[in-house]
Amino acid sequence: MTKRASPPRPRTHDPRCAERIRVLKLAEAGDPPRPPAELLHTISAEIKTHCAHAPLKAYRLAYGWTVTGAVRALHAMCDEHGLGRSGLTKRSWLDWEAGNRPSRYNQDLLCRLFGTGPVQLGFARDYGDHGHHGTAEIAVPSPRAALASRDTLPAAGRPEESPAAVWEPPQPHGSLAEGF
Ligand SMILES: [Zn+2]
Repeated sequence: MTKRASPPRPRTHDPRCAERIRVLKLAEAGDPPRPPAELLHTISAEIKTHCAHAPLKAYRLAYGWTVTGAVRALHAMCDEHGLGRSGLTKRSWLDWEAGNRPSRYNQDLLCRLFGTGPVQLGFARDYGDHGHHGTAEIAVPSPRAALASRDTLPAAGRPEESPAAVWEPPQPHGSLAEGF
């Protein structure tokens, strides 16, 4: 597989910047001992925008994990849910943060770990309802055209064409007896 030339990345901020955002947001929320997922997702979105990190890295930093800590958390989750370890190492995690796409299985594990979806983690795109992908130019049959084409089909319900009209109940006498 050839690597696509990616556009130059904006300079990313030092992880300490992300930590500052995290601490600030948690403090604003009253330092909950178990921050709700929604709050952590908000923090990750802010880190992603502010610090220009890859989404996966932004999520990890929002959760306050080192790479080692994130890998450990993923393994713990696999153990807890009897998922079987994915053979994931610190190296593979770093590769993913650098832009390598995890396998479908690992994507699923990561989504589960962060309680989010592949779009949020940067593994997939969402083409829904944003209006900038030109879906209006895709030709779809209009309801009127569909109705018009239906008119050319044999009209349903006319006795001579209706299957119900030609079908007759089997005769009690006849073929069965003839066979013997
Ligand atoms: Zn920053």
